[in-house]
Amino acid sequence: NNSSLSTTTLVEKYMRSYSLLASAKINLYLEIIRDRPDGYHDLLMVLQSIDLADQIDLRSTETNTIQVYCNHPEVPQDHRNLAYKAVAVMAEHFPHAFAKYGGVDITIHKRIPVGAGLAGGSTNAAAVLVGLNLMWELGLNHKQLQYLGSLLGSDVPFCILGGTMLATGRGEYLTPLPAIDNFYVVLAKYRSLSVSTAWAYQTYRHQYLHSNVSNTSATRHPKERVYSGQIMSAIARQNQMQIYQLLHNDLERVVLPTYPQVQQLREEFQRLGCPGIMSGSGPTVFALTKSQAQAQQVVEAVNAAISDPDLELWISQFTNSSIRVLSFDN
Ligand code: ATP
Repeated sequence: NNSSLSTTTLVEKYMRSYSLLASAKINLYLEIIRDRPDGYHDLLMVLQSIDLADQIDLRSTETNTIQVYCNHPEVPQDHRNLAYKAVAVMAEHFPHAFAKYGGVDITIHKRIPVGAGLAGGSTNAAAVLVGLNLMWELGLNHKQLQYLGSLLGSDVPFCILGGTMLATGRGEYLTPLPAIDNFYVVLAKYRSLSVSTAWAYQTYRHQYLHSNVSNTSATRHPKERVYSGQIMSAIARQNQMQIYQLLHNDLERVVLPTYPQVQQLREEFQRLGCPGIMSGSGPTVFALTKSQAQAQQVVEAVNAAISDPDLELWISQFTNSSIRVLSFDN
């Protein structure tokens, strides 16, 4: 009868929930090739997932609305949140599924530092795409999810796949690289410091890319090529020593002179014999170690050298996946 049908529909709408883990990324390599007419830059990056992760809980509701809750005061809890935007993109592309399964409540348990160059927002959006694909039974493959991700941000397609990847274009064209084993990561960030990604790229463009008359896009001088091939072959050969030496980020050229605290962190890691570079547009600096014990020693040494309550340090590890389903209730 009608009443049992509507109860079933309601139960279906109420009951669907997914909990996912969404990993942060670091840039082992970031080279800016040229600027583009769309305001972005063509890049060549080696991206690596680490096991520092946010937890994203998705729950369908009967209200046809999108609600975001987050435990971090700097993360917007409305349409500006990338996780919210990810639901909106899915609802726009799959209106029947949105109508069938109802609205979505998203709860974000933030562990990834915000505005840190670790793709925190992008990985939350990726988790929503992966989670809704399952919750709404859409059966989308990775390519389709990556396309939807590219509508949300340059790092979202990588965050859907994770692992170790070569990323080109804005960062959306991905080629898997052999997984790198056994690295621990020490991450350091001043809580009150953030760097605008747009500022970092614009400043780099003005200072280091050169236009010529026949070519409207500004390109780096050929003599300034950094040779990404070397780090890729070091990864292929699993040569840890070389990977250490070939870490590179073009954006350091503009961020380090402007933010002496970032420079100081980098020098501190260097002094400890543990090479470190900035991730993305910063301000997080990371260093690689071979063991957890060494990572712990580095954390203690940095804390002892720079005793500042504003400085936060984390230990993480390389991981081969980005989005993981923790539990679900269908
Ligand atoms: P990227 O490495 O991709 O440049 P990021 O790590 O530097 O990103 P995010 O942590 O993604 O930066 O946050 C950048 C800004 O985006 C924040 O200041 C915040 O206001 C906004 N934001 C929107 N949605 C989210 C989200 N789900 N998590 C974190 N920040 C978000």
